[in-house]
Amino acid sequence: MWFKSAASVALSVVLGVGSVGFSPAAAPEEVNLYSARKEALIKPLLDRFSEQTGITVNLVTGKEDALLQRLQSEGRNTPADLLITSDAGRLYRAKEAGLTQPVVTDVLLQGVPAAYREPTGHWYGLSLRARPIFYVKGKVSPADLTRYEALADPQWKGKICIRSSDNIYNQSLVASMIAHSGAEQTEQWATGLVNNLARSPKGGDRDQIKAAAAGECDIAVANTYYYGGMLSSRDDSERLAAEKMAIIWPNQSDRGTHVNVSGAALTTYARNRENAVKLLEFLVQPEAQSWYARVNFEYPVRTGVAWSDLLQQWGEFKSDSLNLGELGRYNSAAVMIMDRAGWK
Ligand code: FE
Repeated sequence: MWFKSAASVALSVVLGVGSVGFSPAAAPEEVNLYSARKEALIKPLLDRFSEQTGITVNLVTGKEDALLQRLQSEGRNTPADLLITSDAGRLYRAKEAGLTQPVVTDVLLQGVPAAYREPTGHWYGLSLRARPIFYVKGKVSPADLTRYEALADPQWKGKICIRSSDNIYNQSLVASMIAHSGAEQTEQWATGLVNNLARSPKGGDRDQIKAAAAGECDIAVANTYYYGGMLSSRDDSERLAAEKMAIIWPNQSDRGTHVNVSGAALTTYARNRENAVKLLEFLVQPEAQSWYARVNFEYPVRTGVAWSDLLQQWGEFKSDSLNLGELGRYNSAAVMIMDRAGWK
């Protein structure tokens, strides 16, 4: 403390201003957050954090990849202390690009199961989503489609809708298959899947569900929160489309259904490190977990936190326990395999 005030006096002399009002100790407590989550999906939680701690959260929102690029170009001058983004594959990229630093605390270790955090603490999952198979009720017998592997079965020729291979959700799904079954088997699978596509991939996950409901295909692959959002939509066409579909939780008798997270990472050059860690710890508390999952139709990462009614209706399922850090490790292999398989 003595050192700080001496420095502040010295600086005052240099600048020729009085030391009144210039004290590092009096600086407002704050934390700067870059979030790929839309403001509505996170702001109320941040307000609650500020109420409880007196720490102001300065929120910058943007698209996932744009935020990563921004962090990279700002380098050590970045104001960002904490990054929130979706998909473990993307969190891996942030780590590999040197944009994150590890942090390990008891609260974080207790809050986030091992599979949903980077083993050395570079990032932590905050919410969980699954990427199951959806089918048009009455058109598919779920017993014929109990594994992702079955999507390559010739019986589904011309019946499957899935988005393009440049999407990280599909890259992570394929990466999980490489991690479990190896590159060779995964490439055979991808080739079989591409042969079964009803159309050249286009649109997002919601569009695959809509295409199936409209009769273009019988089977779609999508993240659960899109389905939840459609079922809860005020837009009749979205709701009616989703209501025609049902979920298959794949691979229940073996590795489990593929899951992924949205997560947070402490940035390499965080200046408000302590406050950023406090915010991260706040986000894994049961109350925050419950709200954060609910508002975007996601699952809490923390065990013992109740699921929303809608998610409970879909039933419990066994999820893949692969450490999600592996999805990033196999990402480039996944991209190459999808490319060779002709997955547009
Ligand atoms: Fe998404």
